[in-house]
Amino acid sequence: MNDFPARVVVDLGAVRQNVRSLAAHAPTAQVMTVVKADAYGHGLVPCALAALEGGATWLGTAQVSEALHLRRAGVTGARVLTWLYAPGAPLREAVEADVDVSVAAPWALDELVAAARAAGRPARVHLKVDTGLSRNGLVPAQLDGVLAAALAAQAEGVLEVVGVWSHLAYADDPGHPSVRAQAAVFTDAVAAVERAGARLEVRHLANSAATLTAPDLHWDLVRPGIAAYGISPVPQVGGPERFGLVPAMTFEARLATVKPVPAGAGVSYGHEYTTPADTVLGVVPVGYADGVPRHASGRSGALGGPLQVGGRRLGVAGRVCMDQVVVDLGAGAREVAGDRVVLWGPGTDGGPTAQDWADVAGTIAYELVTRVGARVPREYVDTDAAHGRARDVPSVVAASVGGGR
Ligand SMILES: *Cc1c(COP(=O)(O)O)cnc(C)c1O
Repeated sequence: MNDFPARVVVDLGAVRQNVRSLAAHAPTAQVMTVVKADAYGHGLVPCALAALEGGATWLGTAQVSEALHLRRAGVTGARVLTWLYAPGAPLREAVEADVDVSVAAPWALDELVAAARAAGRPARVHLKVDTGLSRNGLVPAQLDGVLAAALAAQAEGVLEVVGVWSHLAYADDPGHPSVRAQAAVFTDAVAAVERAGARLEVRHLANSAATLTAPDLHWDLVRPGIAAYGISPVPQVGGPERFGLVPAMTFEARLATVKPVPAGAGVSYGHEYTTPADTVLGVVPVGYADGVPRHASGRSGALGGPLQVGGRRLGVAGRVCMDQVVVDLGAGAREVAGDRVVLWGPGTDGGPTAQDWADVAGTIAYELVTRVGARVPREYVDTDAAHGRARDVPSVVAASVGGGR
């Protein structure tokens, strides 16, 4: 066992079940589970395998290194798409590893063609179209030229244009007019590519939010990320339970110290919190280096905050430090050093969620789960009794420090 006084526990059964729910929301599309950024902080390889067990047939990574990591770890039973790289990226290795590659710039097509020639096998290409996000993607003025070059290379047997895809700017605001506008541009781009003679296997536009709220945008493939980990992409519309999702990550710690202090004690750097009465303070040994957002400092008041201690919900007392936060347990507190503190978890028992921290810190839950520090050990459990490994208590199936990264 690791002696670090905190851990992240990832429920692979929840990931599997969330992917099942997403597949049920998109019955006419394939599911690509996005596993970039170490599966949103949940562990790349274990989550990829759970997603495939839940019905995903594709995996999506931003960086090429993430896609190669999957293949090297033996994840071969799925298509993998990678989409974000700079000149000089290991595209030959990607082609050799049977990874589909997105092309979002003329230079990228040139490098991919060279990589496929070097690999001696055709590359599978998804043309990324900028339909209004103005981020990564071919603008209309670039699309014709890149498409012509790609189809010429295809005629030579060097590559296959298998996909056209894009990404939405406002999917988390269902009904925003830009969503319809981007969808229209996308429809036109798909038609242009097909008119030019490409036989497309997958046309894809929908992230988690569009998967759950915009069935007409599912096309052939949906690309949910955050929802696979059980977090609602549209918290203002509904929490995870509304969509059949359960947060997969629990972040918990053990109290390091518990001690009485008098009224009027200034707490943590800058004394932003002062004890209103004689009380008991606890030290939770995780701080901003571990992913506790510093913007949560003192924001939540002493009661009703995002920490769960002994069945109570408490806020951060004073500033979040690098390695620790202080919690005001109140006079007469019964906690002792070593007791469990939940920062975030599934929330199904009234406990806090990553969304609660996001609300307190003024950010999104994506940022919370992706930024748990490397020194926090990750463990995996599987509560999915239906998966054929039924058991009474969740058992640890793997444990490592900073596993999967
Ligand atoms: C991250 C990402 C996704 C997944 O987005 P979620 O909001 O997490 O579902 C889908 N497509 C692209 C291009 C992405 O970068």
